Amino acid sequence: MQTSVKVAALSPQGHASYRGMDLLKAAEIVWYNTPMKTIAIITALAMTTTIAAESLAAEFKTDTFKTKGGKEVVITAIKHATMRIQYEGFDIQVDPVVKFAPVTDYSKFPKADVILVTHEHFDHFDRDAIATLKKDGTQVIANPSVQKMLGYGTAMANGESRVVCNGIAIEAVPAYNTTAGRTKFHPKGRDNGYVLTLDGLRIYIAGDTEDIPEMAKLKNIDVAFLPCNQPYTMTPEQVAKAAKTIKPKVLFPYHYSETPVMRVAELMADTSIDVLIRDYQ
Ligand SMILES: [Zn+2]
Repeated sequence: MQTSVKVAALSPQGHASYRGMDLLKAAEIVWYNTPMKTIAIITALAMTTTIAAESLAAEFKTDTFKTKGGKEVVITAIKHATMRIQYEGFDIQVDPVVKFAPVTDYSKFPKADVILVTHEHFDHFDRDAIATLKKDGTQVIANPSVQKMLGYGTAMANGESRVVCNGIAIEAVPAYNTTAGRTKFHPKGRDNGYVLTLDGLRIYIAGDTEDIPEMAKLKNIDVAFLPCNQPYTMTPEQVAKAAKTIKPKVLFPYHYSETPVMRVAELMADTSIDVLIRDYQ
């Protein structure tokens, strides 16, 4: 066990990624020099995993929600239309994309159990990001056109629902433009939004959509992600109108690009809905 102490001693108090690198070197030393290598390597690798998690925590903002049964759901804001949802040891990645700025290194993330793709645009669908996050058993769920382009995974059309691992329920809901001249961006029936139900906690990820009548049918939404960048999705006024229809407890305006997103918070000031602005530019 001496070597595991040595591993800990090699870890300087510094930036998380440097600490991670030192531990990786330490793991190699342990492999070649110790008779207790199995225990020591497991210790070293476990510590490296912890450091990787710390590094992600330093880089991305997270919000934690409690389910009806008191379980934790952690949502990590990655960028633009992209987030990670952790629940009971399961990892769900939504619209992972590498190159849409800022570049995301998905090798730093654990492999995903579920990957959701809303539609085919480059700020939502990236086969490289999916390949990096995928492991045996990962359930890749996409709208039918992306599933066809990808050549694998499960297609879910608007209105379909299914239960994936650990009782996680996923429903595909419509996402489309309604304003004249914009319907070509996201034509009705092609793309998905998703409603996830995790032990009773309901999360609505709207995808690229305007404030469509189907939103009035969404019930008991706790957390809503609504996109806010015209001409592709909604103006702040449309987001506020949609949120007042859906009535989530928490609203994340996302996919907002250059839109002055604080306007959404101003427009929601007369409601009890919490507006959380995160790095979804
Ligand atoms: Zn988009």
